[in-house]
Amino acid sequence: MSLFDSHCHLNFSDFDIDRVQVLNRSARKGVSNICIPATKHTEWLSLINESEVLSNESPVSIVTALGIHPWFISEHNLKHLDLLGKLLEKRPVRVVAIGETGLDFFDRNMTPQTKDKQLALFTGQVELACLHQMPLIIHSRKSHDDILKVLRRFKPESAGIIHAFSGSEQQAEEYLKLGFKLGFGGGITYPRASKTRHLAATLPIGSIVLETDAPDMPLNGYQGQRNEPGRVEHVAECLAELRGISLMEVAEATSHNCRTLFNI
Ligand SMILES: [Zn+2]
Repeated sequence: MSLFDSHCHLNFSDFDIDRVQVLNRSARKGVSNICIPATKHTEWLSLINESEVLSNESPVSIVTALGIHPWFISEHNLKHLDLLGKLLEKRPVRVVAIGETGLDFFDRNMTPQTKDKQLALFTGQVELACLHQMPLIIHSRKSHDDILKVLRRFKPESAGIIHAFSGSEQQAEEYLKLGFKLGFGGGITYPRASKTRHLAATLPIGSIVLETDAPDMPLNGYQGQRNEPGRVEHVAECLAELRGISLMEVAEATSHNCRTLFNI
């Protein structure tokens, strides 16, 4: 079995004490590939190196995405988009996407300036995705309609992933029309997430990728613990049960979706 965790922050300090052991443990659960998305510019160079080193030191093949997460925009300005563009021009081999980018409008007290800056940095990363023909990894919270507006304007050919999707059926369909895949993770293991579970059960399997978002987003039954990429196996089991198909079918289809999207 070959599972692909499309979204795991394995470079975070939470894993400093046992990163290679975590990878070995994940491989025993069937994880063959992981994508680590960056959250800020200070991670970019180290992720290019680390993805290579960890791939050599473990049985798991690591790829990475470079981008600016909406939570960290105060540490960035438009010059960082130039820097990102220059890095992407060099086509580092394990860099397969732009992300984690997106919009997070969860905080109701957010100033219009902060919103505008999020939008400017997100739009800039979508433009880079078009220019470099790379897929996007998108974080969206209370912002699907704003994100869809930008995506409809630029129509990024290589599309991407909407990470931890929990929007409506109509929003899901709009993303699918634009060629995007939807990322499902620990969220679907909670019975109360009935709307998201229904979508995971009924959307075409070709539009779904699996993820953990480790060390965050613990699965049902693991609350309060550090999440690990190996738990993508439980996400896959849950999806198999919801769809009434085998774990193997889920693993094959979702890994294939990631490989096609990331062009690996
Ligand atoms: Zn993330």
